[in-house]
Order: sequence, then structure tokens, then C-alpha cells
Amino acid sequence: MKIQSIKGMYDLLPNQTKNWRQIENILHSFFSVHGYGEIRTPNIEQTKLFKRVIGDETDIVTKEMYSWEDRNGDNITLRPELTAPTVRAFIEHNLEKLNKNTKLYYIGSAFRRERPQKGRQRQFSQFGVEAIGSEFPEQDAEVISMAYNIYEMLGIENLELVINSVGSNASKAKYSKELKKYLSSYSNKLSDISKKRYQNNPLRILDTKDKDEIKIIEGAPSILDFLSKEELEHFNQVKRYLDKLGTPYNVDKGLVRGLDYYTMTTFEIRTDSIGSQDALCGGGRYNNLVEQLGGKPIPAIGFAAGMERLVMAISGDEEAEEKVDVFVLSMGDLAIMNALKICDKLRSQLGINVRMDLSRSSFKSQMRQANKLNADYVVIIGEDEVNKNIGIIKDMSSGNQSEVALDTIHKNFDIASDE
Ligand code: AMP
Repeated sequence: MKIQSIKGMYDLLPNQTKNWRQIENILHSFFSVHGYGEIRTPNIEQTKLFKRVIGDETDIVTKEMYSWEDRNGDNITLRPELTAPTVRAFIEHNLEKLNKNTKLYYIGSAFRRERPQKGRQRQFSQFGVEAIGSEFPEQDAEVISMAYNIYEMLGIENLELVINSVGSNASKAKYSKELKKYLSSYSNKLSDISKKRYQNNPLRILDTKDKDEIKIIEGAPSILDFLSKEELEHFNQVKRYLDKLGTPYNVDKGLVRGLDYYTMTTFEIRTDSIGSQDALCGGGRYNNLVEQLGGKPIPAIGFAAGMERLVMAISGDEEAEEKVDVFVLSMGDLAIMNALKICDKLRSQLGINVRMDLSRSSFKSQMRQANKLNADYVVIIGEDEVNKNIGIIKDMSSGNQSEVALDTIHKNFDIASDE
């Protein structure tokens, strides 16, 4: 019986990893020029980290985490997101001592046992940033516009950035009470899941995808009316900065986001070009999180974005075409030996992307391979050529050929490889 990968977890094959690597490289340089340093944390953390950070009543913690008891009795979990591990590491390594503002980014795997569908996997990759140290709206504007600029720079179309503010925990609590009051007259129309949330976490009802509930919510009080004067001014200032930066946004008073740790600014970036799972990126402020995890009261803001959805938005379903600089055709023992040597020199001395056939295929088949790989040049070494101690270099675009001494063939290429 064949053994298959686990449901919702996928292999990335070479024709996909090439795209991924390019995008990852772009992200590394993008974050670096913004002054963000890369952090890599373990895939597994103590379960209580996520319980404490994400919230006991959230879907992630109640239904989606891969958690188990380790052999020594520790409760551990495959990370469902990377903010909690990043903040844990920030505190553990006293990073605030190095800098007043700590700017971190990550690219790594996350695991959630959700129902798999297009754009929703059980193992997926996230990239994101955490800017820890500043409570000021300019920090919000920087993080939000950075996130937006990534997608714009990569040419993703039909982007929508929505922002909101959920205020401090005190404002959230006041609003929760009012929201419950409003929803109580619709209690028999709420879905089972919303009924549960009504008790435990009423703000989450605003995240509903249920059409009837969306209608009910349209009439609900707005969280923006429950912010303090300072909180509202903070939000207005974020908007003014975004206006100045030319980052277009819509305010969505229903955007509370799934995780409990958000305070103040929340935002999400969507596109309609990747199907129903349209959220590319989500983020917001979490001013209490560092303290909640045992650190000092240091404010922070960040975002997390799905790599798979970004790759999907960039490339659709099309596969990257392979391209090589040189293909060396060979026939017979001596020719193969020379071809191996030429390939080695071209690769190691010039970094040229070169291939040869290793299955002793016919010349015709080798030429087909060269064409399929879009080789710029082919080198032909048959028995005649070996006897004359030469190889033939053919320029595939012009068709021009020249005969070159075998041991100098590699000197005829000065192609800067693009890989
Ligand atoms: P969240 O931490 O839920 O706000 O997710 C942040 C981003 O990660 C989302 O906007 C998606 O792009 C991506 N994402 C979240 N869950 C999944 C999943 N199960 N499969 C693929 N991407 C996901």
C-alpha cells in the first residue's frame, strides 16, 4: 500500500519551490531594508503559550491545534501561528535591552487542523513582522503600509485593505456588553456557534460568514463609538498617516479578527483573485501581549500573512518554465567523460546553469531535452568530435555553430546565470 501525505499537508515540488524561493528572497530583502531582522523560532512550543496568548475560547485553541503530551508529560503544540513564539523569544532573550524598538520578521510553517480547501491547509507557511516598542500611530502606519506595499510591489490585483480599531481591553469590554444587549433580541436567529460565542466571546460573532447573521450585525452598534478620546485620536492619526503614504484603505467597523490578543488597530488585506479564502494578511496591535507573557508592559504591532495565498495570487496555477544556459550533448564513453568535466567547470568556475543527459539517451532525445529546457547554447560532443579533440558549440537562437578545442570549451561562455 502506498503511503500518502497527511490530509491538508502538501509537498512543494521543484517547479514550485523555484517560485517560492524567489518570493522568499524578495521578502528577505524587503524586510531588511525596512530595518527588520529575521527570527527563527522552533516549530513546537509549550501548549500554554498559545492558550494564554490566543485565547481559550478561540477556534484555534479549542479545535485546531495539534497538541499532545510529550513522553515526559509536557504538553506541547505545533505552532498555529508565529506571533506568540516571537514574543516569547523576545522576552526570553531580553531583546528590549538591545533596542528601544525591536523589529522582527519571520517566514515559517504553521499548523492548524482546519477543514482543508483551496487556500486553507493544515500545514501552511506564514511570513510576518512584529514591531515591539512603540505605541505611536506612526508605527501602525509603517507596519500597515509595509504589508500593503509587499502585495502591490508583487503586482497582486484587486487589493483591499480594511482597518479598524477595537480600542483597549476596557473599551472592548464596554462594547462587548452593548453588543450582547443588541444581539439578545436576535438570540433565536443566531447559529449554534454564535450562540456559544455570545456567551464566551461575543466580539467573534462579528467575524461571521453566515449571510443572515451578517444582516443582523449591520444594525449592531459600532465599536468605534466605544473608544476613548485618545484611542479614537490614535486611530484617526493612523488614517491620516496612511493617507499621506498613499496607502488606500476602507474602515470596517466589524473587523475584530479571530485572535483575542488584539488591542487598538486591526487590519486585513484581501484580494478577490484567489477564491473564497481571500484573506492575504491580517494584523494589528497587541499592547498587552508582552506583559501577558511575563515581560514588561511594552506595546507592539504586527501582521501575519499566508505564503501559499501570496504564491497563488502571483502565479495562479501556472508552473514556472525551466530555463538553462547550456546543455551538453554527448555520445560514447569518452564524450561522456568530457561532458562531465565541462559541466563541472561551467558550474564551479562560472556558476552557469548547465545540464547533460545521464541516461545515455539518443542524440535526438538529448536535443529534445535541450529544447524543452530552453537552453541558450548546446555543446555537442560525439565520437568524431572526441577523435578530433573538439566540441561543437551551437547558439540556439541564431543557429550559428563553431568548433572549439575540448579543454577550452568552458572559456567560451560568459553567461551570468540568473539563478
Ligand atoms: P491569521 O493568523 O489567522 O490571521 O492568518 C494570517 C494569514 O495566514 C491569513 O490571512 C492567511 O493568508 C494565512 N492563513 C491562515 N490560516 C491558513 C490556512 N489554514 N491555510 C493557508 N493559509 C492560512
